[in-house]
Amino acid sequence: MEKREIIRLLQTKGEERTQLLKRSREVKDQSVGNKVYFRGLIEFSNICSKDCLYCGIRNSNTNVVRYEATDNEILEACQFAWENSFASVVLQSGEISSPAFIKRVDNLLKKIKQLSNNELGITLSCGEQSRETYLRWFESGAHRFLLRIESSNPDLYYKIHPKNSNHLFEKRLESLQFLKETGYQVGTGVMIGLPFQTYEDLANDLLFLKKIDIDMCGMGPYIEHENTPLYQHRHLLMPKQERFDLALNMIAVLRLLMPDINIAAATALQAIDAAGREKALVVGANIIMPNLTPVNYREEYQLYEDKPCLDEDKELCRNCLEARIEMSGSEIGYGEWGDSLHFRRRIKR
Ligand code: SAH
Repeated sequence: MEKREIIRLLQTKGEERTQLLKRSREVKDQSVGNKVYFRGLIEFSNICSKDCLYCGIRNSNTNVVRYEATDNEILEACQFAWENSFASVVLQSGEISSPAFIKRVDNLLKKIKQLSNNELGITLSCGEQSRETYLRWFESGAHRFLLRIESSNPDLYYKIHPKNSNHLFEKRLESLQFLKETGYQVGTGVMIGLPFQTYEDLANDLLFLKKIDIDMCGMGPYIEHENTPLYQHRHLLMPKQERFDLALNMIAVLRLLMPDINIAAATALQAIDAAGREKALVVGANIIMPNLTPVNYREEYQLYEDKPCLDEDKELCRNCLEARIEMSGSEIGYGEWGDSLHFRRRIKR
């Protein structure tokens, strides 16, 4: 698919859009099937050294109460995931690279493997780290890593991140490369509907994902947060519903471009539309991340406005999701890792 065609598809409306979404659904069913895999999400710390201009837990936001979940709380959430046949968890946090943090994550990985008879799959989402750290965590049991590029256009990247040595576009690219070389299933993605972002940027993002040959993707609408610098540009944003529709178009086109990768139905979709994640499953996503973060911390992990399910505990969350997914006509792959088929084929090549 050429860039011009992608730009056109991203903007389709009406009947042509219906056709696009139908086609991506067919491609999904043929390539990865109709199953949805769970990744229990544990947002275990909001302490962050970065100052991303869009993010509610950026270092300079002093309105946030910083927390670190205890090992017990984290392991209890993993235990729940395992007992409920979620098969995988995602450990996500702000970005820290102190020796103490690295060691802590390492230790947690080993304990999670232990408590689950080596069965729980583990995805990490803890930002940019050194090659050594990625390797250490890989050897301790993490096998997937999510690190969004946020935007593949360096100019736009520096409009949404401070321009300093702690936020280098090159470093982000290099980290993705390290992750791949280490042997992880690598996931990345972008925010959709950012101020200053064009359709051409988004088309280039999709081509970028294809070029670096990712295994997994998580991408969702950008949602403004009052206590962040990017909020001042909110007058430039398209209405939320349009950002939502565009995010679904992005998922659909990506499914056409990369039929056998795993695509997550991002939580941010649900901040705009209560059934947002299920709608993403219908058009091409096949991964969902039920929130297992202890409820008392959720208020403090608000990356954006209207983050859903702030008070819903994990039991409720599971029941609610199960019902919604079945309604959307998909089957839940309980007890299965649901690894990226693309990854399996890539490592055989
Ligand atoms: N510290 C980790 C995890 C970051 S949070 C890391 O750097 O990878 C996960 C994702 O949330 C980010 O990559 C970003 O794409 C998304 N996010 C942050 N703020 C957002 C906002 N205001 N609207 C939508 N998504 C946002």
